[in-house]
Amino acid sequence: PAPVLAVVGRPNVGKSTLVNRLIGRREAVVQDIPGVTRDRIAYDALWNGRRFTLVDTGGWEPDATGLQAAVAAQAEMAIQTADAVLLVVDASVGATATDEAVARVLRRSDRPVLLAATKVDDDRLTSDTAALWRLGLGEPHPVSGLHGRGSGDLLDAVLDAL
Ligand code: GDP
Ligand code: MG
Repeated sequence: PAPVLAVVGRPNVGKSTLVNRLIGRREAVVQDIPGVTRDRIAYDALWNGRRFTLVDTGGWEPDATGLQAAVAAQAEMAIQTADAVLLVVDASVGATATDEAVARVLRRSDRPVLLAATKVDDDRLTSDTAALWRLGLGEPHPVSGLHGRGSGDLLDAVLDAL
């Protein structure tokens, strides 16, 4: 089976937009993955002749335990079900306390973890991307899901990690 990359991050950081960009098409193969909730949707992706599966997570609703616990649970689930994890952070906002909490969970993972700084639509935000090194997940990859900027470099990094 194709290796699986799970995409995690806070609501509205741009995960689904980025996933659509990375698979290069709008229509998507929706699969049922046993044991995971229906808000996790898997897409077949192909880059440089290699297949992989992208899992977009989202739609999770913070319950009484709060947003940070919900995001941490999302990250734990991603670590357990994927071969690598992509944390998406909104570069126009910077790292929030929730982003730091999820990064803390992901740093304990023995799976490869990549960091995408999205909404980098132009050079103006590229400098803000460097601040995300402090999440301790290695190089932040600047990308614009909306315009496609940086997506090829991110895909190269993803396939190196898988
Ligand atoms: P998700 O909740 O993390 O899946 O985020 P979405 O992909 O649904 O995007 C949330 C909002 O951010 C939407 O209004 C998107 O249009 C916007 N957005 C996503 N990616 C980008 C981007 O690269 N640049 C800009 N400017 N806006 C973006
Ligand atoms: Mg989404």
